[in-house]
Amino acid sequence: MDWLVPLADLDYGAEEETAVRDVLHSRWLTMGGVTQEFENEFAQFTGARHAIAVSNATVALHLAMLALGIGPGDEVIAPSLTFVATTNAVLYAGADVRFADIVGPCDLTIAPAEIEKQITPRTRAIVVMHYGGYAGRMDAILDIAARHKLAVIEDAAHAPGAKFDGRALGTLGDVGCFSFFSNKNLSTGEGGMLVTGRDDLAAKVRLLRSHGMTTLTWDRHQGHAHSYDVTALGYNYRIDELRSALGRAQLAKLEKGNARRREITARYWDALEGIGLELPFRGAFRGAGGSPAASACHLFPVLLPPDADRAAFMDGLRAAGIQTSIHYPPIHCFSYYRERYPGVALPLTEAVAAREVTLPLYPTMSDAQVEMVIAAVRAGGPVVRNHRLNEVETR
Ligand SMILES: *Cc1c(COP(=O)(O)O)cnc(C)c1O
Repeated sequence: MDWLVPLADLDYGAEEETAVRDVLHSRWLTMGGVTQEFENEFAQFTGARHAIAVSNATVALHLAMLALGIGPGDEVIAPSLTFVATTNAVLYAGADVRFADIVGPCDLTIAPAEIEKQITPRTRAIVVMHYGGYAGRMDAILDIAARHKLAVIEDAAHAPGAKFDGRALGTLGDVGCFSFFSNKNLSTGEGGMLVTGRDDLAAKVRLLRSHGMTTLTWDRHQGHAHSYDVTALGYNYRIDELRSALGRAQLAKLEKGNARRREITARYWDALEGIGLELPFRGAFRGAGGSPAASACHLFPVLLPPDADRAAFMDGLRAAGIQTSIHYPPIHCFSYYRERYPGVALPLTEAVAAREVTLPLYPTMSDAQVEMVIAAVRAGGPVVRNHRLNEVETR
């Protein structure tokens, strides 16, 4: 479809083209010097001690599990209102997932009190997903983790450039995982980054990223080594120089892009108030991690009234040329997970997921496009307008 306003769009220009051309001219395509520079710049940007570039965020999450020694017999607590990769990574490692519910309609991140309910003697780690780029309840979660000696893994796929108490999301727990998939705030097509402050984890991740080999092809090319040993069962989870070059160009634009995302979010919040929608994260723990000032504003979620016809609402926007999406169908409701973990019930996750619609949000969105979305949502017709607004708003 040719959308007037797509859900997301790349912020690509001459910088990206030059970056890729330079790599092509260098005649070195696989992981090497450009990747090292990308890692150094990302480490500096986030304040992380180690930043390790990988093929995508899914493998970053897998490596996080492996580096933490999580495996068969272990349990990892995770949200269900997230992309399926968040918990697939737990299963790749041979461990089991324990799903925990979200805080509620105003905060779609995992609830500390629900995490505590899922802790068993087998629990090893908590995964926090910073939904839409808004910080999870890190104070409480880090406190729970410390009391129960659990690791904290941050799925920061939505959150490059976001902060909590002045610290970059992804750097608060033991490991943070970022995605550079096309529709993320920083895009390289496929790509990801794992950050950690722990030297032991960084060493394991570097080893497992490349087959468990003690030296890289790049090291040998540079004359630093002639051979290698294999000291662990590793993988090929490397990134390449073309993507790292795109990543460097995109990192240079990230702050500006995030600022524009915050501006659009603030405009949406003002313009979409009082029409029967709930606006998650608006005013939720303002001044702490959840204010738009600290968010990477990756997504703009709205919640329709509980009995609204979501398909009709989305069809109405599509007819106006506006693309929308749903974040997310809960993981525990997918066939595979239902069979594997029958009987999981997460009332808040299920209720919110049934009402959620994600509106377009990307840095190159024009003011006219933002107003087009606002007008279409406000006209959103029978679906939203006919609801008794007060009932929704005073709940
Ligand atoms: C995109 C995404 C991932 C997976 O990222 P890839 O780089 O595509 O593997 C994981 N978790 C969340 C929350 C995501 O949005």
